[in-house]
Amino acid sequence: MQWLAHGFHGEMKYMATHGTRRARPAELVPGTVSVITARMDYLPRDTPLDDWQAVEFDRLARPGEAIVSVYARGRDYHKVLRARLATLAECIAEEVGPFGHRAFTDSAPVLEAELASRSGQGWRGKHTLVLDRSAGSMFFLGEIYVDMALPESEPVSAHCGSCSACIDICPTKAIVAPYRLDARRCISYLTIEHGGPIPQELRPLMGNRIYGCDDCQLICPWNKFAKKSALPDFDAREGLTGQALASLFAWSEEDFLRFTEGSPIRRIGHERWLRNIAVALGNALRAGESGAAEALATRASDPSELVREHVAWALAQRPAPATAARPGQTAGSPSPAA
Ligand code: SF4
Ligand code: SF4
Repeated sequence: MQWLAHGFHGEMKYMATHGTRRARPAELVPGTVSVITARMDYLPRDTPLDDWQAVEFDRLARPGEAIVSVYARGRDYHKVLRARLATLAECIAEEVGPFGHRAFTDSAPVLEAELASRSGQGWRGKHTLVLDRSAGSMFFLGEIYVDMALPESEPVSAHCGSCSACIDICPTKAIVAPYRLDARRCISYLTIEHGGPIPQELRPLMGNRIYGCDDCQLICPWNKFAKKSALPDFDAREGLTGQALASLFAWSEEDFLRFTEGSPIRRIGHERWLRNIAVALGNALRAGESGAAEALATRASDPSELVREHVAWALAQRPAPATAARPGQTAGSPSPAA
C-alpha cells in the first residue's frame, strides 16, 4: 500500500484497483485455502553458462545492436507456464480426486513474488525479484490457488548480505532503496508498460535496450547459478537476438505481427516498438554509430506523432561537429591547463 501511495506503479493502474484481493487469495478466488507456488527456469538452451552474463553485458557495449530482455526472446511464457500448471493440477486430481483450483502466471492480481518467497522458492533480492542460491533469478513464477489445506513449506533465508550490485548498476537508478523499485524509472516498465512518450531525461540512459532490461539480474552474483530451460520454448527466435537496430526499425506493422506471433513482445504493438527503437537509435547516433541517422530519417514523417517525436529527439542526438582548430593548433594538442 505504501508503494502504491508513492505512485511507484506509474500507469499500471490495475495494481491499485484490485485492493486487498491482491494480497488475500481467498478474496480473488473464493474457497482458496492454500497456494501451490512454482518456478520455471528460462535461460535458452544454448546459453553458454560459463560466461552468459559477460556475453549479455557485451551486447550493451555495441550501440548499434538491439537488446531484447532474455526472457522475451522465445515463446510467450504466459502460455507455456499456464499450460504446465494446468497439467500439474490434472496430475494432482488423479491422485486426490477433483478439487477446486485456478492457475495464474503474471496474469491476475496475485502477489507472485511474495507468495514465492514465503513458500521457499527463494528470497526477495534488493532488486525485488525472487532469487535462489541454486538457480539465481532467471525463472518465471506461477501459482495454483487450491481449495484444500496443504502443509506449509518454509521460506528460505536471504543471502544478499552487504551486496548492492543491482542497485549500483541500474542505469536509471530505479531501485530507489533496497527492496524498493520505482517502476516509473525502470527500463522494463518504460519499454513495455508505459504507453506515451518516454521522459526525455531517461532516454539517454536506456542505451540499446528496446524491450525490457536485465542489468540488475546480470550483475547479481547468484546468477552464476542460473539454469537453462528444459524446454525449447524459450530458445531465442531467429531474427531477434544480435540484430541491428536499423533492421528492426525497418519492420512494417505486418512484419512486426508476423515476427512476434506467439511472443510476449507482440503485446506492446508496432508503435511502441518503433518508439523504443528510435530512442536506442538516438543513443547509437550519439555514440557515433554509422547508419543510425539514415535509419531514423526513414521514419521522420511516420504517421504516428509518438514515433515522429522520438525520431526528432533521436536525430538531435547527433554529436556536434568538432570546432575548427585555431591556427597553430593540432588535434590532440594538450590543453593550456595540461
Ligand atoms: S530492470 Fe533495468 S532499469 Fe529496471 S531496475 Fe533492473 S537494472 Fe534498473
Ligand atoms: S545483486 Fe546483490 S543485492 Fe542485488 S539481488 Fe543480487 S545478491 Fe542481492
